Amino acid sequence: MGVSGSATWWDELATPLPPNPPIPLYPASRAIQRGFDQLGLRSSPGRLATNSQTYQGRSACLNCGYCRSGCRVDAKYQADEVLIKPALATGRLELVTRSVVTRIDTDRSGTEARSVSYTNLDTGRESSARARFIILCNNPFEIPRLLLASTSRRHPNGIGNHYDQIGRNFYSHATCLGMGISNDDHRTYVGHSMCNVMSLDTCVNRERKDYVGGFSMLSLNGAGAGSLAAFPLHKLHGIDLQQRMAQYNNSMVLITFIDGMPVYDNRIGINRKKTDALGMPVPTIHYDWHENDRRAFAHAREKIGQVFEAAGAYESFTSEIFESHPMGTMRMGNNPKTSATDRFCRVHGVHNLYVAGGCLYPTGSSVNPTLTMHALALRSARKIIKQWRNPFFDSLAEVE
Ligand SMILES: Cc1cc2nc3c(=O)[nH]c(=O)nc-3n(C[C@H](O)[C@H](O)[C@H](O)COP(=O)(O)OP(=O)(O)OC[C@H]3O[C@@H](n4cnc5c(N)ncnc54)[C@H](O)[C@@H]3O)c2cc1C
Ligand code: SF4
Repeated sequence: MGVSGSATWWDELATPLPPNPPIPLYPASRAIQRGFDQLGLRSSPGRLATNSQTYQGRSACLNCGYCRSGCRVDAKYQADEVLIKPALATGRLELVTRSVVTRIDTDRSGTEARSVSYTNLDTGRESSARARFIILCNNPFEIPRLLLASTSRRHPNGIGNHYDQIGRNFYSHATCLGMGISNDDHRTYVGHSMCNVMSLDTCVNRERKDYVGGFSMLSLNGAGAGSLAAFPLHKLHGIDLQQRMAQYNNSMVLITFIDGMPVYDNRIGINRKKTDALGMPVPTIHYDWHENDRRAFAHAREKIGQVFEAAGAYESFTSEIFESHPMGTMRMGNNPKTSATDRFCRVHGVHNLYVAGGCLYPTGSSVNPTLTMHALALRSARKIIKQWRNPFFDSLAEVE
């Protein structure tokens, strides 16, 4: 992948170092670091799936700031370039694009997934593909929707939904985005987007008694000024907004991800009476913030302001609470009555139907989710290889 970073204060013992050194701190990150220092918060460069030096044939980061539009030199890890292209080159992968999977079918016993049905968006043609293993990785909304829509005699409420667990325990990272304006030229438009510098000291709440969990504090840089207008500056209009936006290059930008609470009643469901153009039931979404989310958010918002002030900002703005990183809805667990998949991310009761993505997390901590998704996918892959080689193999312990 090309992860960059250094040892951090929060690593577990014997954590291996990333293959690439950290990306040097940008001027805004150095200012934020001073703010952390003043408040007694430890900091370190973030751990990024972005190359700080040429690695495995991919370029080092050019600091151009356009990460969110896709990296034109592939310094940033992207699955299409790093995983799918080499897989296609083996000649053993067929990639079907412009198509939407609308249904999964199982055998008559309901314990084995047999095929997926899909529709081509351009021609409307419906096809199906049979498989020994089916892996769903179409995000925390669409995975439960697809399973709930795939009803049959053995799965009258949707595949794997015997105990009403599919789509439940939906949650996210409650998020606060902050902008601190100083008199210094930080060239904030330069640099990769996320986490040039971070403090994870607040991920475990030791200051307040009114909530559990915590929040991370991560810097933002690059071509992301628009998100400031949409979030921390959203109450400003006209000349007031224009003035602050013109000061983007004098700004420090921090984002906090708050350890959100999984809530049983927050869920993705489907409306069986209403279908979309492809005939799939439309999704229904219920989501309320947990009181713990709101209290942690209040603390995170206050802390961002303190860091900016300590870092020399003369004015700062923080956003209202908003959600990042949908998680839950297919959570892992040993008990099918309280979880949707087993620890290898396999839908309970269907031995060859796997799931990948943030929907699997029983809890989300307060850091970015995608590297953990990859770690879980590797674990599932090892399990699938074992099962593939020996169809009778089903010991959970053997691949741990
Ligand atoms: C602006 C932004 C910034 C982010 N920054 C970071 C970051 O810095 N670090 C980090 O760790 N994470 C970040 N994230 C989160 C990260 O993008 C997600 O965690 C990650 O993309 C999830 O990967 P996924 O493959 O599970 O799901 P997705 O990326 O959502 O992919 C799901 C795919 O399935 C397809 N699909 C859906 N339904 C069907 C169907 N029925 N049939 C066929 N295909 C289907 C979709 O079209 C999509 O291509 C960011 C997200 C956003 C929006
Ligand atoms: S700043 Fe982002 S888009 Fe630009 S080279 Fe670096 S990783 Fe790629």
